[in-house]
Amino acid sequence: MKKGYFGAFGGQFVPESLVPPLRELEAAMETILPSAAFQDELDDLLRNYAGRETPLTFCPTLSGRLGFNLYLKREDLLHTGAHKVNNTLGQALLAKMMGKTALLAETGAGQHGVATAAAAARLGMSCRIFMGADDVERQAPNVMRMKLLGTEVIPVATGSRTLKDAINAALREWVATQATTHYCFGTAAGPHPFPLLVREFQTVIGRETRAQMLAKTGRLPDAVVACVGGGSNAIGMFHPFVSDASVRIIGVEAGGTGEAGCYHSAALGKGISGVLHGEYTLLLQNADGQIEPSHSVSAGLDYPGVGPEHAALQASGRVEYHAVIDSRALNAFSTLCHAEGILPALESSHALAWVLDNPDALPKGGNVVVNLSGRGDKDMEIIRRSL
Ligand SMILES: *Cc1c(COP(=O)(O)O)cnc(C)c1O
Repeated sequence: MKKGYFGAFGGQFVPESLVPPLRELEAAMETILPSAAFQDELDDLLRNYAGRETPLTFCPTLSGRLGFNLYLKREDLLHTGAHKVNNTLGQALLAKMMGKTALLAETGAGQHGVATAAAAARLGMSCRIFMGADDVERQAPNVMRMKLLGTEVIPVATGSRTLKDAINAALREWVATQATTHYCFGTAAGPHPFPLLVREFQTVIGRETRAQMLAKTGRLPDAVVACVGGGSNAIGMFHPFVSDASVRIIGVEAGGTGEAGCYHSAALGKGISGVLHGEYTLLLQNADGQIEPSHSVSAGLDYPGVGPEHAALQASGRVEYHAVIDSRALNAFSTLCHAEGILPALESSHALAWVLDNPDALPKGGNVVVNLSGRGDKDMEIIRRSL
């Protein structure tokens, strides 16, 4: 396999000026990342700052209705409210040990911006977050959180005024600031080595799930399910199970409103291969090869591409991917609230919705794990408008 590739996908399609910081990052992944000093400090941060390990919660009411045992991996209970902090703490600590003093990052809904801002503050680093100008307006509470955490938020008014152009602006800024600054990329996508680096920090989800299922049930789960935006919470859950043939692996993308002509976020379902943000992957694009804006009720799944490893896992047939439309995700949201007393993020509600709507596709009496990637408190305004 070519370096940085997953099957046909991945690579490092960047201008010359970004090759040196990506090489420096690759070198740090070989030397600093495996060191006991790094691993011990990350472990301490994850346990005592972020709140790992997260519980694996059995759902008695829904299991009774579905005819199999439903478990939730509770990433919603982590500090800052989602799995994203696993990645930002890992990258921030690595950057600090590389001698960097500043972080920069992109954010769409603002969740990755908040998780990066928290990691920067905790580790004594300065932080600048690039955010599409429209997203700055739409996500005011997260902009406020980032500022309170001491981070500078930079609105990007070019192009789509959303995530895609915020990433382009952040990559350009990295060219100019690479000596002091690490680009803390937010999902398992982008140029090599980011898909591997983000996977490395998110596989704690799948490793814990594996051990917790063995302890609770004495065997591996029959299926693991996660939502896919760029693909980081999903690859974190999936990767430790990929070589276990008995475990069915299911990724769920956002299908938008489901109306014809609606550009949703299902890059694996509808995407055409191409290059975006430094990688070769599946992308939502029109007949002229222009990137189509994605749309979903959950802002965190609004990314027009998908991480290259998911594109490869779909191509090889090891992982199946489905799309769930907004209305079914909202239905799953309220079902979980009422049945189990948990408010899930709308992103995570997509994964749950596929399970709730397809019980006959899953084994009676079996054990199914859904990754609850985040909590729903941030989605109250969207939920209120949809009622
Ligand atoms: C950001 C986010 C996602 C989507 O990102 P991935 O990289 O695909 O995991 C999913 N769930 C929550 C709660 C998020 O905040």
